[in-house]
Amino acid sequence: MSESILYVVSTPIGNLDDMTPRGITVLKAVDVIAAEDTRHSRKLMNHFGIETPMVPCHEHNEGYQSEQLVKRLAAGESVALVSDAGTPLISDPGFVLVRKVREAGFRVVPVPGCCALIAALSVSGLATDRFYFEGFLPAKSSGRKKRLEAMAAYTHTWAVYESTHRILDSLADFKEVLGADRYIVLAREITKTFETVLAGSVEEVEYMLQEDSNQCRGEFVVLVQGAEEEKREEVDSEARKWLERLLSELPPKKAAAIVADMTGYRKKQLYDVALELKG
Ligand code: SAM
Repeated sequence: MSESILYVVSTPIGNLDDMTPRGITVLKAVDVIAAEDTRHSRKLMNHFGIETPMVPCHEHNEGYQSEQLVKRLAAGESVALVSDAGTPLISDPGFVLVRKVREAGFRVVPVPGCCALIAALSVSGLATDRFYFEGFLPAKSSGRKKRLEAMAAYTHTWAVYESTHRILDSLADFKEVLGADRYIVLAREITKTFETVLAGSVEEVEYMLQEDSNQCRGEFVVLVQGAEEEKREEVDSEARKWLERLLSELPPKKAAAIVADMTGYRKKQLYDVALELKG
């Protein structure tokens, strides 16, 4: 094993067969593994016969631990970073460590593998040429709605991580802010026994979860179809013309409300188009 290198190693998000052979080789060969939760990662290490010593590296000790690990790299040792599941740093600890190691002039080498976001995106059927990842939304509804409002007019696919405790509350906020008709894809328990991918309008997906409490369990990636795609499909040139005309006299909200009355399109949808027309 090359010395003085930090390896950022992805681990499975459910199915242990997704651990890469290179990941196992690296974890066996390094001097120390920095793990988000050493007790959690011990199970993975035992499964693959990895006996390398581990040290904890999580959000509460990352600053201090990073300094210790930089010292070990300076002494010629090699280090691997893992999180509880998936790719470290993706809604997981590791940023402080990677930054410090790079600043200290040592190499950081990725050992790629699972990431729930990418796995969900790959099966969603949503546009993948451009996408935006928000990570976790705020736990409180008011903060969550603020973030959703900020993303409502994004024209590309976007995604958030969500936990079992909040999925229904979150979907209620999605409905309020994005409208009941926005098309979403809910990827649950990817690579695990109860893997499900539900797709439809926010209202339809919310209904599926309300009808079957099992669908509310586990880990989720919520993917949202970009606003532009929706608009391109639905808002015709006639409505756009009216909007453009009214926008020269009225604020976007008012113009959207009038055109909504005239055409039957949703106010929110027209408001997004109005903002776009205003540049
Ligand atoms: N670093 C991880 C990655 O690369 O995806 C993500 C860690 S983040 C703390 C955990 C969140 O990722 C979960 O709450 C869920 O939103 C998502 N997630 C992780 N595993 C998942 C799975 N098997 N199916 C669906 N979502 C998953």
